[in-house]
Amino acid sequence: MSTRRHVLVGGGVAAAATATHLRKHGFDGEIVLVGDEPQPPYERPPLSKDFLLGTTEFEEFQVRPPAWYDEQSVDLRVGIRVTAIDVPGRSVTLSTGERLGYDGLVLATGVRPRRLPGFDGDRVHYLRTAADSQRLRAQLAESERVVVIGAGFIGCEVAAAAVGLGKQVTIFDPAPTPLARVLGATIGSVMTGIHRSRGVQIRAGEYISELRHTGDGMLLTSNLGHRVECDLVVVGIGCEPNVELAAEAGLATDGGIVVDEYGRTSAPDIYAAGDVAAQYHPVYGRTIRVEHHDNALRQGANVALNLTGSAEPFAEAHWFWSDQYEHSLQSVGRPADLEDLVIRGSLEDHDFSAFSLVDGRIQAVISLNRPRDVLEVRRMLFAPHEVTAEQLRDESVPLKRLIPRSPWATARA
Ligand SMILES: Cc1cc2nc3c(=O)[nH]c(=O)nc-3n(C[C@H](O)[C@H](O)[C@H](O)COP(=O)(O)OP(=O)(O)OC[C@H]3O[C@@H](n4cnc5c(N)ncnc54)[C@H](O)[C@@H]3O)c2cc1C
Repeated sequence: MSTRRHVLVGGGVAAAATATHLRKHGFDGEIVLVGDEPQPPYERPPLSKDFLLGTTEFEEFQVRPPAWYDEQSVDLRVGIRVTAIDVPGRSVTLSTGERLGYDGLVLATGVRPRRLPGFDGDRVHYLRTAADSQRLRAQLAESERVVVIGAGFIGCEVAAAAVGLGKQVTIFDPAPTPLARVLGATIGSVMTGIHRSRGVQIRAGEYISELRHTGDGMLLTSNLGHRVECDLVVVGIGCEPNVELAAEAGLATDGGIVVDEYGRTSAPDIYAAGDVAAQYHPVYGRTIRVEHHDNALRQGANVALNLTGSAEPFAEAHWFWSDQYEHSLQSVGRPADLEDLVIRGSLEDHDFSAFSLVDGRIQAVISLNRPRDVLEVRRMLFAPHEVTAEQLRDESVPLKRLIPRSPWATARA
């Protein structure tokens, strides 16, 4: 048995994946996983979907059952923060005052919701943790008028859940088309139409500039001078990476903890993974930070591989999904131009895949209710291929006949 100790900071899916894969790759030394939330690692996607609707229980989306940590000899420390890293001394300090030496250290500290100054109080919600979701769920039960500030994924998912619970929902977003920043105007418009058809009021190009608490709710004023009364506000205006621990220890940060393609930070034997990691991607040739579940899992797994003696670059295609009402939105890759997409299928019927195509190569696909297309593209995205817009539009030819699979990518899919 090895006497080495790896310390994993952050109790999210990235840290949990590192622990899992360290054992898979035969690491038999000590693993200490330190997370500041009270629960063992869990998946966050249900927090704005099923869990908010009350159709799934917390136990169903824990990354591992609690007994797993004992079975795998993973020393799980929940409700504890890592407060400092001593890089030369190769140790971390915990909020309990304990100092822990490490041979390898993984920073998977995730992100936190960006806050709107002055937008606080009992009935104003930011959503990141199970506790946030539980509190929101409880208050939704006794609210009628819900305002969502920010039409990103979380805002739109919360709006869909609130509609599912029979609430009146208004979304404010300063952009002319909600979700356009991540999906482009065409698909953003489709999603806007879906929300409107469910009765959501979408106030695009308008934002809330003032919030006042009243006796029985809140009074919001928009930049256009419109006033809206509501019982509950959810703010979903993006996130900020939790880089402070790394920055205070002198590690390079730049909109995330900077890591190379192997997940290594600027300090020896310290890695970063998940939402907090700004990683050099060898295929794209640049540093990218991604806030998606699958990426966090895979980066966590990759770091474990590299901690156990491999030197494997992380070169995965980025994949994500968002569920709103009965619709499943998925995407893989990085679109070159969100306003120049080749549509296969029907926007009107909410049944399509939109391809970003450059010089015969697919850069990305965004699909609504076509998960198989995303799977096909994911398998071949980085393999050599050449397709035309006409071929992609022609539904009589199955996608898998158009594009060869990469054995390399299939092994990882
Ligand atoms: C409501 C919601 C819905 C989502 N839905 C989707 C979806 O549908 N599809 C999708 O692809 N992605 C979704 N995501 C994003 C996905 O959940 C994240 O990408 C993923 O959780 C990132 O995992 P992580 O381990 O990197 O970080 P996190 O999950 O943020 O975990 C980091 C943990 O580290 C803790 N921590 C921070 N600093 C310290 C410290 N110093 N000491 C100890 N602990 C510390 C944090 O409190 C946190 O518990 C959603 C996220 C949210 C919030």
